This record gives sequence, structure tokens and C-alpha cells, in this order.
Amino acid sequence: KPPRFVPTRKVDSLCPFCGVGCQLTYHVAGEGAAQKIVFAEGRDGPANAGRLCVKGRYGFTYSRNRERLTVPLIRKPGIPKGVNLDPANPLAAFREASWEEALDFAAAGLARIKRAHGPHALAGFGSAKGSNEEAYLFQKLVRTGFGTHNVDHCTRLCHASSVAALLEGIGSGAVSNPVRDVEFADLMIVIGANPAANHPVAASFIKNAAERGSKLVMMDPRQTPLARHAWRTLQFRPDADVALLLSTACVIIEEGLTDPAFIAARTEGFDAFREAALQYPPERMAPITGIEADTVREVARAYARGPNSIIFWGMGVSQHTHGTDNVRCLIALALMTGQIGRPGTGLHPLRGQNNVQGASDAGLIPMMFPDYQRVAEPEVRARFESLWGAKLAEEPGLTVVEIMDAASAGRIRGMYVEGENPAMSDPDLEHARAALAGLEHLVVQDIFLTETAMLADVVLPASSLYEKSGSFTNTDRLVQMSQPVLPLPGEARQDWWIIQQIAQRMGLAWDYAGPAEIFGELTRAMPSYAGITWAALEGEGAVVAPKIAVEAPSQPVLFQTDFPTRNGLGRFVPVTPLPAAELPDADYPMVLITGRVLEHWHTGSMTRRAEVLDALDPVPWCGMHPDDMAKTGVSHGEHVELETRRGQIELEVRADEGVQRGSVFMAFCYVEAAANLLTQPALDPFGKIPEFKYCALRVRFKGVF
Ligand code: SF4
Repeated sequence: KPPRFVPTRKVDSLCPFCGVGCQLTYHVAGEGAAQKIVFAEGRDGPANAGRLCVKGRYGFTYSRNRERLTVPLIRKPGIPKGVNLDPANPLAAFREASWEEALDFAAAGLARIKRAHGPHALAGFGSAKGSNEEAYLFQKLVRTGFGTHNVDHCTRLCHASSVAALLEGIGSGAVSNPVRDVEFADLMIVIGANPAANHPVAASFIKNAAERGSKLVMMDPRQTPLARHAWRTLQFRPDADVALLLSTACVIIEEGLTDPAFIAARTEGFDAFREAALQYPPERMAPITGIEADTVREVARAYARGPNSIIFWGMGVSQHTHGTDNVRCLIALALMTGQIGRPGTGLHPLRGQNNVQGASDAGLIPMMFPDYQRVAEPEVRARFESLWGAKLAEEPGLTVVEIMDAASAGRIRGMYVEGENPAMSDPDLEHARAALAGLEHLVVQDIFLTETAMLADVVLPASSLYEKSGSFTNTDRLVQMSQPVLPLPGEARQDWWIIQQIAQRMGLAWDYAGPAEIFGELTRAMPSYAGITWAALEGEGAVVAPKIAVEAPSQPVLFQTDFPTRNGLGRFVPVTPLPAAELPDADYPMVLITGRVLEHWHTGSMTRRAEVLDALDPVPWCGMHPDDMAKTGVSHGEHVELETRRGQIELEVRADEGVQRGSVFMAFCYVEAAANLLTQPALDPFGKIPEFKYCALRVRFKGVF
């Protein structure tokens, strides 16, 4: 027998964390159920070229954490529902059950609510961490088995406003160019994003391009590590993004730097946008944005002149009540200068989770069927009714926060949550947790007893990425294949199998043999995946979507000749700067900005159970400017209380000159001090995304750590 930790085999698969979609080789030791990953190394994938970040390299140990769920659980009678009611033994609220009993119980509760209160009393959250096949199957279950379109997922909390603006403006919610196109870019704008923490391998390509001479412009209220490589850094006031982008557009128009031929041939609506933008010259906007007019003019000229300029953005752009307006401005900048449709140009919303692009493509959206085909259009509904052999509801469903509100009001009574953790990720968590706890029946399918699972009536132990075959679509629209590296632990099951079991118990005659068969049906439902085959994914390892036919060429750069809108034209949409939903005042004089840190991923359910990552960043902390810390009377490492109108938390404070005076930054991955207890649920009216990036806050000294 080989020694315990000497790898004896290796498996090529994917990273389970961010949307960059790095390809890895996992080196595995041990036999049978005792197998474990010993180390991981980057492969020469199209998105990573052998590179990895700390999460990909060291984050895999969560899959064998001792807290992994290995048997179905049913809540004991009479046990109250709450998050961390018994932190020493969170499993005490549950008893173990057989799969047969747990599945019968889960499906019977959902069916009972449907019978008594109608299909729209049910809702489901699918997962951007699962495969395309799992996402497709989950939304199909909710639409055909539950009988409602109340199905959504975490894209609602990250890029829903981006997708709304992109569909409206250029007819596609996906990126126009891959990250590695920075190789051809003369100028790169990164706005409202912190790729060094959230897309580290993408950040490494941006750094390389900057070192080779491409001008990097960082625009963000917080100065993040990538700014060290920047040509210009515009640290604008939180909430002044629309004003800054309009003033950039104003300069381009005023100084005659637009591309009239592109505007005339490829766009519509420029005149109205032009009139709106000319109202916001940078000299007038400087007191609002905090950025000197000369700097805005310099950046605007460089972007327009390129010759090739590309824009990346993240949740600093999208998670506002004006998130859609922000993205409308970015689209307008690209359209008015013709900076789209060529290598090194374009629009790239950096997608968050490893399959948030695919989960959205596959239809985990309440107003869209797979491939962004609108529920409200009768001919689209008829097509899916024919494909699925089921009568479908006519009205689009509710979004994530709307579902929580409906649950709170008693209109939604039962939910199925697969691989998401709204009890940590939703805004105003007290409200969200009370809504989940108040449900008559909550089914949670996950790999850990997450904060959401703690509120469940039944918990179904599922598969991690390391245990499944499946296709995943990264931020570049690359569809890539994961392969099982480890066996399922205990009695845990494949997610597609669990969804199918629930479907069968709700009266659907499903009999999928596995992911390959599900993918085959998915390609019949989705024209943009129609040319991708399972065999190609297994053989080539990555295929670029859209691919409308097997013989169709790959399209890493979209929109070269037209846009997929009704008339082929890109559309300008005029916008006006609007204030955030909750402004600082005498009681709450500061601003809270939430985000992520390098070592942890989203709600921390995976990375905080990965020993190396948790050791690197083990305690909740927030960042403040040293001047604000002096005013508050706190020193680096001491404790503060952060309080908003919705709640308060206590945590360590760290001095950070990159955090703007008057604001506090913290990540939302720490259950001990959950940032979303503080955030507020005001929504962007178009994307229905909450304003995680701005709410009024006060800070108090709490004590010495
Ligand atoms: Fe994984 Fe993203 Fe890091 Fe790549 S950059 S290793 S995909 S977390």
C-alpha cells in the first residue's frame, strides 16, 4: 500500500469558486471512501493558462470537512427554527432519516401547499455553484412540477441589473470579449470591481497587460490592490458612479471623440442620450463625484482614442438602486466610441460564482426560460409547453427579495432551496431569516448545514463539484466540464438525482439517466447551446457559447457585425443620476459598503470550512480610514459595533487607507458578524437587485480585542 498522503492518481476538473473558470488537475491519495485530494495544480486551460489563486490551490479541503452532511435530516417536532440557536450542536434540531422517508416528506410538504394554496404559494432557489444540467432541471421542476415561475438564484444579488441593461441595450446578457483579450487592449477600465480578491487569475492577466503598456484605469470608491498597477485611479464618492460615467460621456461628446460612423450604422437613440449626457460636464460634477475634471477628461480621451479599450465591472456597479443606469452608461460609452466588436474592446461584467453565467443561461430566472426566452411571450411559452409536455403559468415569477417579502406576508408558504444560502446572502437578514423560518415547509439541499439549512424542515445531503460530472459556463462564456475527483461521502447523492426524485414524487414522469441526457435536452431548449455536444465537452474540455450549430465557428468576440436585438442595432438609453435609497444623516453619518475578501467565497459556507483559507482569514473584520478610526477613538485590531436601522454587529476594525473617509468596508462571509444584518433591501427597479453597496451606518468603539 502506498503511504497515506502520496497521490496515486490525478483527475482533470475545474475550480469550484469564481467565474474565471480555472482548469485544474487534482492529485488524489487513498482508497475507497478514504480518498482525499492531496494537492491541486493549474492546467493550461483557456481561462487560466496554468495559473491558480489561493482559493483554487488550497480551498479543496472543504469537501472532506467533518461538518459535511452525509445523511438526510428531518426536523424534530417542536424544535424552534433559528440560525445558530445551538452553536455547539446545530444538528440537535434534526433526526437522521432514510432517503425514502426524507424525499417523501420533502415532496409531500410541497405538494400539500400546492393543493391547498395554489402553485404560486411555492418557490425555489437554484444554485450558481451547480452545473448547467442541475440548473436546467431545477427550473424545469419549479415551472412544470410546482406550476409557477417563482424560481431565481444568486444572480439576482450580483449582476441582475447588468443583465437587464445588456439585454435592453445590446440584446445579450453575456460578456462581449474574454478576459484574456486584455492582451489586445490599449486601455482597460475596471470599475466597481476588485478582481485581485474576487477574480485573482483574471487580475493577473490585467496586471500583465498593464506591465506591457496597456493603460489601466481603476474607478472605485475603495482603492483596491489592482490600483497599484493603474495608470489613473478615480476614487469617486460612493453613489456618484452615474454622475462620473455621464461626465465621461459628456467629454467624449463635447470634444468630438465619438465614432459617428459606428453610431450611424450600428446604434439607435444616440440623440436623446447625447442631450442627457451634455448636462453633466465634469467641472459641474466634480463636487459630487470627488474627481477633478482634468482627470475625467484625460480618461475619457484615452478611452475614446483607444485604439482598443475594454471595460470590466463588478458588483460595485450593479448592486445599487441605480445599477441598471450604471450599466446603461457603460454600454453607451462603448457604443458612442465603437469600442465593441473587436478583440481588445467590449463590455465584460465579471461573473461571480463559477456557474452564474450558466445558471442564468439555463433559466434560473423568474421572467425568462432557458436562453433568456421571455415567459411573458405566448409563442415562447407554447414552445416550452411543447418541449416539456406541460401547461405553464402565464405570469413571470417573483425575484429573490420579492420571494422573501411574499414569504414574510404569508403568500409563499413552501420553498425548495438547492445550494444557496439566503439566510446569509439576502439583505436585511433578520427579515429574510424570519421569512424562511415562517415557511410551512422548507426543503434545503446542500453539502453543509448552512444557516439556511438550519431553518429547514428537511435537509437533503448533496454533492460538491469534486464529486460530479457536469458542464459549467465561466465569465468568458466558456462551457467546461467537471469530472468526479472523489466519491460521494456517506449517503450524499448527486444533485440532479435528488431533483429528479422530488419531481417524480410531485407527479412528473422523469427518468433521466444522468447529466449527459439532461444536457442533450438542454441543448434542444437553448439555441445558443445547440451546437455544443457532451462528447465535445469531454473531448475538447471547453467550448465557447453561443454555438448555434455543431459546425458553427466559435465566437470569443461577439457583436462584430450586429447586435442580437430585434433590429440588430445597439440602443442608447438616457439616464439621470439618482441618490441612493438611504443616505447618511445625523444618526447614521457613515456609509457601509459590503464586498468580499481574497480568501473567502460568498457566504463562506465552503471557504470557511477549508482549513488553509480559514487560517489565513479567520475572524470577521471591517476596514476604516485611519482618520475615521481616530475620530471614533479606535485603534487597529480593536473592536467596533457597526449599526444600521436594521441591526448591529461587533467585529475587529483594521486601518485601511484605501477605504474612503466616511465609509466602512466589510465582507459578507462571516456568520459571527453577518454584514447582511445591516444592509437594506431597496431594489433597482429594473434588475430587482438590492443596494448592498450603500446604506447609512454608525460606528461605536466596543473594546480592546
Ligand atoms: Fe478558482 Fe477563481 Fe481562483 Fe481561478 S481565480 S483558482 S477559478 S477562485
